[in-house]
Amino acid sequence: MPDIEPHIETIRQDVACPACDYNLRGLVGAVVNCPECGHECDVVQLLTRRWDKPWYHAPRYSTVCLPAGWLLICIAVLPLGLAVIRQRFGGLLFATLFTASLVMGWAFVMDRAWRVFHDPRGWWVPALAHGVLVLLIAGLAGVAVCVVCMLIAFIDSDPWTATGFAVLALVAIACLWAGRLGERFMAGQCIKRYLEHTPAE
Ligand SMILES: [Zn+2]
Repeated sequence: MPDIEPHIETIRQDVACPACDYNLRGLVGAVVNCPECGHECDVVQLLTRRWDKPWYHAPRYSTVCLPAGWLLICIAVLPLGLAVIRQRFGGLLFATLFTASLVMGWAFVMDRAWRVFHDPRGWWVPALAHGVLVLLIAGLAGVAVCVVCMLIAFIDSDPWTATGFAVLALVAIACLWAGRLGERFMAGQCIKRYLEHTPAE
C-alpha cells in the first residue's frame, strides 16, 4: 500500500470533468468515466495541468531520478577518486573496487526505481531521466557559454561570430525546453502510477 501523498490528494479533491464540470473526487484510477455525463477523463492530464509545485514533488519522482543523479555524481567523483587511489595506494585492486562500488550503487538505485513501477516503465522512465538530466545540464551550460562568447564577439565587433553564438544559444534553450518537457512527462508517469495504486481518500 503506497503512502498517501498530501499534495496530490489536495489537487485530486478538486479535479472536475472537463466536459460538465462534475467533481471527480473519490473516483479511483488514472482514467475515469464521469458519473454525470460519461465523458472519459484522463485524470493524470487533469492533475498534471493543475500541478503548482516543482515536479520532484510528484510521488516517487526523486526515486525515479536518483539513478541519473547518482551517475552524475559518479562522473564527478570517479576521476578524483581514481587519482587519489593512484597516489596513495597504487594498485589496480583499489581502483577496481572503487569503480565497482560506484557501479553497484547505481545498480542499487536503479533497482529501487524499478520497484516504483514493477513493470517496463520501471526501466524506461529512469532511463529517460538520464537523458533529461543530460539535456538540462547541456542546455544550462550551453546558454551560459554561448551568452558569454556572444558578448565577447560583440565587444570585438565580430557580428558573424556573435550571430553564430546566438544561434547556438537558441539550440541550448531548445535543449532546456525539451528537458523541461521530459520532466513533465516523467512526473506524469509517477502520478499515473500513484493513481493506479492508490484509492482516493
Ligand atoms: Zn462529466
